[in-house]
Amino acid sequence: MTEPHSLYRRFRTLLIANRGEIACRVIRSAKAMGLHTVAVYSEADQDALHVAMADDAILLGPARARDSYLNIDRIIAAAKATGAEAVHPGYGFLSESAEFAQRCADAGLIFVGPTAAMITAMGSKSGSKALMEAAGVPLVPGYHGDAQDETTLSNAAAKIGYPVLIKASAGGGGRGMRIVREAEQLQSSVVSAKREALAAFSDDKVLIEKYVDNPRHIEVQVIGDSHGNLLSLFERECTLQRRHQKVIEEAPSPTLSEAQREAVCAAARMAAGAVKYVGAGTIEFVSDGKDVFFIEMNTRLQVEHPVTELITGIDLVEWQLRVAFGEPLPLTQDQIRLNGHAIEARVYAENPARNFMPSVGKIRTWRTPEETHGLRIDAGYRQGDVVSPNYDAMLAKVIAWAPTRGAAIERLHRGLDDTDVRGIVTNIPFLSALVTHRNVRDNDIDTGFIERELTALTSQQTTVSSLELCAAVSAILRDEARSIGQDAFSPWRASGWAQVSRRTRVFAFRQGQAEHKVTLQYGRGPSSILIDGREIGFAYSSGNDATISLDLHGAKTQIVAIIEGHELYIRTRNGRFDLHWIDPFGVDEEDHAGEDRIVAPLPGTVVALLAEVGATIEKGAPILTLEVMKMEQTLRAPFDGVLKALKCKVGDIVQEGAELAEIEPKA
Ligand code: ADP
Repeated sequence: MTEPHSLYRRFRTLLIANRGEIACRVIRSAKAMGLHTVAVYSEADQDALHVAMADDAILLGPARARDSYLNIDRIIAAAKATGAEAVHPGYGFLSESAEFAQRCADAGLIFVGPTAAMITAMGSKSGSKALMEAAGVPLVPGYHGDAQDETTLSNAAAKIGYPVLIKASAGGGGRGMRIVREAEQLQSSVVSAKREALAAFSDDKVLIEKYVDNPRHIEVQVIGDSHGNLLSLFERECTLQRRHQKVIEEAPSPTLSEAQREAVCAAARMAAGAVKYVGAGTIEFVSDGKDVFFIEMNTRLQVEHPVTELITGIDLVEWQLRVAFGEPLPLTQDQIRLNGHAIEARVYAENPARNFMPSVGKIRTWRTPEETHGLRIDAGYRQGDVVSPNYDAMLAKVIAWAPTRGAAIERLHRGLDDTDVRGIVTNIPFLSALVTHRNVRDNDIDTGFIERELTALTSQQTTVSSLELCAAVSAILRDEARSIGQDAFSPWRASGWAQVSRRTRVFAFRQGQAEHKVTLQYGRGPSSILIDGREIGFAYSSGNDATISLDLHGAKTQIVAIIEGHELYIRTRNGRFDLHWIDPFGVDEEDHAGEDRIVAPLPGTVVALLAEVGATIEKGAPILTLEVMKMEQTLRAPFDGVLKALKCKVGDIVQEGAELAEIEPKA
């Protein structure tokens, strides 16, 4: 056996075996260190940002991850073809695959991360728990044995005591997890957890843990080098989660006292030290408010690593690469300082109003605020890119730093507010509502907080005021002026002579059920807008982008307006608004989709049928389960009725809009 340190050496060309935001993130640091970067991509990602950013890029294969980003043979062949000497796995995909780490090593490539043996030891939730138990790290009570039969699992659950949590042993991203509150539900939950685990990780082994009610999630960043140095870089708190997936992460934890911080960091060093860990990793704990219990180790960089970078001033990707070069870590434990507070929000292509259904399609508008001191945007997409149903729906992360937690939250809020994405639906308004929620500011939260507050966090927009109506008019005028090459309501319009009379033009807008009429008066003299009999002096000027400076009776304000056909997106100081412009000359199309049908909201695979044809069903009753973007989505009855027909079977791959079931409404 070779000594671990001989695995690492200086290299010049790095292949990044990933896509999206993480590939872009790694490329940025690698280039700054003078490395030559090689991207890999699938047929769906020909024009992706990570491909454009890298020095070289190699096509792996078809869109399906199995044929591209998860295909070890093709990635190794790509490395060989481009002369890459090292491979950075990013996170997700093959980042925690011991097989991939080993295959890289066998091919003479440096794997930027731990060895296959360390991944095997720590990468499995069951295996790492056994190790931690031996090392004396506190664990949640649970069963993590090999036997997976029904009796063993139900006896284990009974012994632990309900509620319990079933987890995929190979799990990640909250997939394959089920909370079980009563013994009767155990079997069906095991079946569905195993099914999801098999689909996501090709491994259906599960473990059972005591479900800690209303816990907090606390994790410690560690990094080790090949010279035996191992450091902890403080903790992150990731308690704001939905379906066990992190939504907002911050560092340091606002919950821990100084003594608790030291204790949890020491436990993390002990955990990583148990395998003489090399590379960046995270030790995760749940806390019931008093004690912390080890749940798992992630043997890779994490999505939320930027908050640690912002409070320590360390570039973790740079350090990962230095470790891979065989260098010792540049600082010692007592040289690592905690400075200020950082908080990150994950921007997803998903629709919170429709149970967070992933959203796919072309990004028609992508506007993010400029990165300034204390505001960082890690994006994997830009305007014109296509969000494909084949991959994870995370688009970007907005990260803010400030000397205090309160100021960091304000900065994040502003950063989110100044972000506009159109063409696909995103969770940005939901994130804004979340970070400004009183309980979040007060750190009065637990992992179930989002689920409980969902209605408040996804509630509909406020009604328009005259500001938004004036903004809508300015947007229409701006777009008309752009299309004819001059200002549509200029008195010198078209033929160059001054108009003698005052002219008016009426606009009508709809927001939900409400209709609003606005009259623009222009021509000789200053223009004005009439709303409900009130006259407002009106002028505007626009730049090249979506922003418009409005001047209403001398009060100036900046707004953002984007028009797509008859749909207007307006962002003002009052928030975001979607308005429908009722064009007197245009034809308004109505959506005639039949309400008695259940259609696939996105392309996916039918994984379970949950109701029988002929059955009487109540509104909200589960009809079938669809796997969309690796997540199971249960489609439910929109009203009381009888299930007339099921138009699909388990295993069917269905297209967006495909009719899956028909329900006859109750008379
Ligand atoms: P994954 O690897 O899929 O992300 P984890 O084991 O890291 O799964 O758990 C994800 C989240 O689920 C944790 O952050 C925590 O909120 C919650 N969780 C995990 N284990 C428990 C537990 N025993 N009791 C309560 N909540 C838990």
